[in-house]
Amino acid sequence: MVVGAGVAGLTAGWRLAQAGWQVSIFEQQNCIGGLLAGPTVAGVNCDLGAHRLHRAALRVAAVADVARTAPLEPRQRQGKIVLRGQQLNYPLSPLGLMRGLGLTDGLRFAADFVRAPRWQAHGRADTDVGFAQFVQRRAGLAAYTAFYEPYARKVWGLDPAELSQTCAKQRLSTAAPWRALTGSAQRHQFWVPRGGFAMFIEQLRSKCLGLGVSLHLATPVPAAALQGADAVLDSGHLQRHAPELLCDHKGLHLLWLQVDGPALADVDTWYCPELQFAFGRVTQVSHFCPPQPDQPRLLCVEIPQGSWGDSVQWAAHIAVLSAQLRQAGIVAASNHLRLRQQHFLPRVYPLHRRGWRATWQAAMAAAVADGKTLPIGRQGLWLHCNLDQAMHTAERAVAQVVAGQPAAAWAETAKQFLELQVRD
Ligand SMILES: Cc1cc2nc3c(=O)[nH]c(=O)nc-3n(C[C@H](O)[C@H](O)[C@H](O)COP(=O)(O)OP(=O)(O)OC[C@H]3O[C@@H](n4cnc5c(N)ncnc54)[C@H](O)[C@@H]3O)c2cc1C
Repeated sequence: MVVGAGVAGLTAGWRLAQAGWQVSIFEQQNCIGGLLAGPTVAGVNCDLGAHRLHRAALRVAAVADVARTAPLEPRQRQGKIVLRGQQLNYPLSPLGLMRGLGLTDGLRFAADFVRAPRWQAHGRADTDVGFAQFVQRRAGLAAYTAFYEPYARKVWGLDPAELSQTCAKQRLSTAAPWRALTGSAQRHQFWVPRGGFAMFIEQLRSKCLGLGVSLHLATPVPAAALQGADAVLDSGHLQRHAPELLCDHKGLHLLWLQVDGPALADVDTWYCPELQFAFGRVTQVSHFCPPQPDQPRLLCVEIPQGSWGDSVQWAAHIAVLSAQLRQAGIVAASNHLRLRQQHFLPRVYPLHRRGWRATWQAAMAAAVADGKTLPIGRQGLWLHCNLDQAMHTAERAVAQVVAGQPAAAWAETAKQFLELQVRD
């Protein structure tokens, strides 16, 4: 039995069926895809946010296999990071960063970076010094104050001192010019499936159905099916197995705005880490999902839940957002913006407070205690991860089930995923 029909659940169902197992997938929503479901906005087939595959994803066996029937197209990144009133090419080059910061600040940042006691940031693995200290030791105080701190407050709505260092290790590049500098060479290209990610998900579904997997939509895990299953690969929220523990998340608001008026710059994504902007990322839908002629031009605006809450009526804030989009240089004063749709994704950013690994271990122990449940994927493992990494966790879990290893061993094996680095 598989819980959830996102990429992890569908991959698990497909691989189990390939190994000769009889598989049922239960999905609580009335559509497949999870975070990769494809909504239609104003007649345009969209993505939830904008998804892309990075080079490392192509090495994941399940991604490579799907790509045989849903070919991937390479794209050059056309990203910008909005910093201090300027739009700099993203990923950043050292020269770009210097240009953005100006000579005085550039030298101050470089000096702080050189002086930062990076060796202290790699202390014992079980010591969690927290987000603030970890970043200051690695990147210096100037970079922390300018980029990392506002970014952390925007995404998690918390004092960065309360957050685990994992949040810094796993995902910083939207706010981390220093990290972007060190790994930028390979990051100028990405891949999207021809026909968009809806095609990718559709391929996974047809692989499952072709092997006789039964797929039940709008069906949260039925207790009877749980009891009758020999193995349960569960991509639902880990906390279901340990309600007394806090394995919580912060969510993300997605807003699709129709843009009328002059053409926008040829940019796929604007990254906006600064706190003066409610949004963290803005994408042009047409760069990711193939548009039809005469379809409206859409921007997808990603606003981290942060301290906003989960039920904001964004129509009431559209004038403020439009002003911010103009200030960031994403739209011009003569562009007219109209909110076409909004959507809230509740479980996007795992809220990893300091010491969260102990909670993770306790929750995993509770999950595998029935001797047959293996949590997989982003929610199942309470991870911040890319879609290929979610698929990889599913493939690894299936290999373990097929090899007849006990579920308890999975709680150990899965620890390796805690070190995953998120790519964006
Ligand atoms: C805005 C945004 C942009 C992103 N961009 C990228 C990108 O560019 N590249 C990249 O690689 N990754 C990206 N990601 C990450 C990627 O989308 C996820 O890592 C991946 O889709 C997670 O897949 P999953 O199957 O593990 O989880 P999910 O997609 O969350 O699927 C879990 C499924 O389980 C179902 N479920 C939960 N509980 C139950 C239950 N009790 N019973 C039945 N069903 C249940 C849910 O409804 C859901 O469908 C992005 C994510 C977001 C939010």
